[in-house]
Amino acid sequence: MRDVAIAGAGMAGLHTAESLREAGFDGRITMIGEEEHRPYSRPPLSKEFLTGKGAPVGVALRDGPSFEALDLDVRLGRRAQRLRPRERAVELDDGSSVTADRLVVATGARARRPDTALDGVHVLRTVEDAEAVRDAFTTAERVVVVGAGFIGAEVASSARAAGLDVVLVEAAATPLTRVIDPRVGGVFTELHRDQGVDVRLGVGVTGFEGRGRVERVRLSDGDAIETSLVVAGLGALPNTDWLEGSGVELAAETGGVLCDEYCRTAVPGVYAAGDVAAWPHRRYGGLVRLEHWTNAGEQAAATVANLLAGDGTGTPYTPVPYFWSDQYGMKIQLLGQAAPADTAEIVHGSAEDRKFVAFLGRAGMLVGVLGLRSTPKVMRYRRLLSEPTTWQDALAEVSPRS
Ligand SMILES: Cc1cc2nc3c(=O)[nH]c(=O)nc-3n(C[C@H](O)[C@H](O)[C@H](O)COP(=O)(O)OP(=O)(O)OC[C@H]3O[C@@H](n4cnc5c(N)ncnc54)[C@H](O)[C@@H]3O)c2cc1C
Repeated sequence: MRDVAIAGAGMAGLHTAESLREAGFDGRITMIGEEEHRPYSRPPLSKEFLTGKGAPVGVALRDGPSFEALDLDVRLGRRAQRLRPRERAVELDDGSSVTADRLVVATGARARRPDTALDGVHVLRTVEDAEAVRDAFTTAERVVVVGAGFIGAEVASSARAAGLDVVLVEAAATPLTRVIDPRVGGVFTELHRDQGVDVRLGVGVTGFEGRGRVERVRLSDGDAIETSLVVAGLGALPNTDWLEGSGVELAAETGGVLCDEYCRTAVPGVYAAGDVAAWPHRRYGGLVRLEHWTNAGEQAAATVANLLAGDGTGTPYTPVPYFWSDQYGMKIQLLGQAAPADTAEIVHGSAEDRKFVAFLGRAGMLVGVLGLRSTPKVMRYRRLLSEPTTWQDALAEVSPRS
């Protein structure tokens, strides 16, 4: 094996290249990235990058010398637009193509856009998106944030820090419902309200109105909110369109590229990692696709280990998922899976104190640990999730003094 191509120059793409070099691979590595930038970190984009306080926040994942030391053939500003599976050739949008012995698909996801072309309606995925929102924060007095998933919730928090009035609109009954069980999620509604956010739950957006530029947002409960700025956090869509017709199978259940537990796709020699990859996780049953920063790095490393080990000698990828979010100066952390859960119990602290650790269970097993402002305690329970642990055994591990 002399050549590896990586489609996607984000967190997963970078870690794929680094893991290859760390393992001693000295062949050619081609990295194809649609954005003009070297790999950068997205988490700051909805947090300190937006608040505009202090020096501009740097988001590069590696400094120049560290990146150059990887000795990659980097094609930035180039989109992979087709995969010819038999030759493992990736066709780029400038008419060139890259052929490799192995290909890692790390094309991530893009923001789902609301159905409007009005100016002043933003999404947040790229550094350019974040610059546009940050600029808008300096002139707007109010922002309507549509969707209280983690990006919407963080934008609401950053907008308050920047001094804007914030209306947060969410169709579900609590914020963060896609990742956090509603029984615990209620506290996150209060978190926003504590900070003066006008939270509208259980209502959808029926339309954006204005002449050229947004002037108001209409809601399903009949209300209309006047605003010149909207940020939509409507979730992300995995970037798989370029793989159409390639034989790489997609995961209907979760979206994304369907992998086996060794990160292999249906096409021999083609692997996937990061936000774009779905795979069967032994401990949770069914397919899992994680849009988590830590997973992008860990899955890339696992992919490389399996790719170098060759078929039949790999290691199944069974991480303890980890996700964090920063809102109003408070850290929310989630280990494992928080939804669906049939049992939720706060084992340290309390929702009223805005400081707690909650266990989440399903079918008699511990499946997740969720914490607010409780970093050391949350991390202490990680080992309970790295092996099957019954709900009762998990509760027995909780020390009342800790
Ligand atoms: C605003 C924001 C805040 C976040 N905050 C957190 C957080 O607090 N905690 C957390 O755990 N996670 C967070 N995340 C999620 C985290 O950033 C992602 O899980 C991570 O970026 C995934 O990395 P990736 O490399 O798989 O995909 P991406 O980061 O999406 O990178 C994929 C790259 O591939 C490129 N690409 C796509 N299609 C093609 C193509 N056809 N050809 C070539 N290149 C292509 C894309 O342009 C992109 O540059 C956040 C995400 C966003 C957007």
